[in-house]
Parts: sequence; C-alpha cells; structure tokens
Amino acid sequence: MSKISVLWDYQVLDMEVVKLQRAIVNSPKLQKLKKDREFLLAQQDVIKKIEDDVLNMSDRVAAIKVAIEMLDEQLKSYQTRLENDVPQNQDEARNLCNEVRKIARDIADFEKEARQIQKKAKDRTKQEYDVRIRAARVKQEFNELKDEYQPEQEQQKKELEIKKQKVVEKAKEVDPDLLKKYESIKPHAMPPLARLLGQQCGGCNMALPSVTLRQFDEGEKYLECSNCGRIIVRMEDEK
Ligand SMILES: [Zn+2]
Repeated sequence: MSKISVLWDYQVLDMEVVKLQRAIVNSPKLQKLKKDREFLLAQQDVIKKIEDDVLNMSDRVAAIKVAIEMLDEQLKSYQTRLENDVPQNQDEARNLCNEVRKIARDIADFEKEARQIQKKAKDRTKQEYDVRIRAARVKQEFNELKDEYQPEQEQQKKELEIKKQKVVEKAKEVDPDLLKKYESIKPHAMPPLARLLGQQCGGCNMALPSVTLRQFDEGEKYLECSNCGRIIVRMEDEK
C-alpha cells in the first residue's frame, strides 16, 4: 500500500469525525435549545429594563408628590395671609389671586403627570407579567427538550470518541510528513485530499496545467493543486 493510499484511508476516517461533529452541531434539537436559551436570556434583559423603567417612574411620582405637598403648603400660606392680612388694594388682590391660580395650575399639571406615569407603570407591569409567562413557557419547553436531547447527545459523544480513536490509530500508519501536510491543508480546504478528475482538481475543479499533470506519468504519487493547495491523488484504477 502506497503512502498516499494510507493517507487516503486516513482521510476517510477523519472526514467521518468531521461529518459527525457537524451533525452534532447542526442537530435541530441542539439548535432549538440554543435558540430557546438566547430567547430566555433576552427576556431577562427585557424584564430588567421594565423593572428599571417602573422604578424610575415610581421615583418620579414620589418626587411629584413632594412637589405637590410643597405647593399645597404654599397655598395654605396664601390662605393664612388672606385671612390675617387682607389686601389693601385691587392690584395686591389681583397679584395674590394670580399667584394662587398659578399654584393651582401647577398642582393640576403635576397631578396629571403623576396619573399618566402611573398608567404607564401599570402597562409596563402588565407587560412584564406577559413576558414572564411567555418565558416560563419557553423555559419548560427548553427543559423538556434538554431531557430528551441528553441521551442522544451522550450517544453521539460516544460515537464521536470511537471515531476519533480510529483516526488516532490510523495516524500511526501515515507517513509523518504527509500527515503534517494534510493537517496544514485542512483548515482552509476540506477534505485536504482530492482525486484527479479528468484534468481537474477534484476539490476546487481548477484545471491543472499539463506540465503539472505530466508529473503523474513521471511517477509522482500525488500533486499539489496550485489553486486550493489540496493534495491531488490519481487513483490506481484511474491510470
Ligand atoms: Zn484545487
């Protein structure tokens, strides 16, 4: 068995590992679990935002209440002044009247704002409740799917370990320099070995120059594709 044939067999086993790894990552159940987890994390942020909003709103309402109390105090002081110190003329009476009116208007404005904020806070709290209900439902779905997926995942992991072990065993038979080359191609071209298809690289379909191809006839066991860097092999039966 030629060195390159051994490497080819190695690749077959190695690609089985890659295929299974991909299947695990792309498993619809795993994808759904990931999606659910992302959703649940996002809902935590949504809830936090609502709680912050509601807290800010209640702070504002508290501040408004203090402001209204102060205005009430002011109103009372005007009232006392009116009782004890009756305005001497029309101007004075009018000024006082305007002041009282202004304070009453400010109080009304504050009260309106407080009511609006309270309504908003109520809406936000309702929203939070809905978010929590929805998240709880997804969480339940997530837990059920996780329980369902776990044995599957364990089985896949076991299979993967067996396949990886086969690769490790086979690696011992492969020429070290070829293996090094194979591993260096793998990150950018998969699979690293390709067949010669007609006059093309079976990996990237690039036509190979005849001067390169001639090397096969001169006894080379493999070539390197100048386009994708793959090792190009001509199978024995294709000669
Ligand atoms: Zn190529």
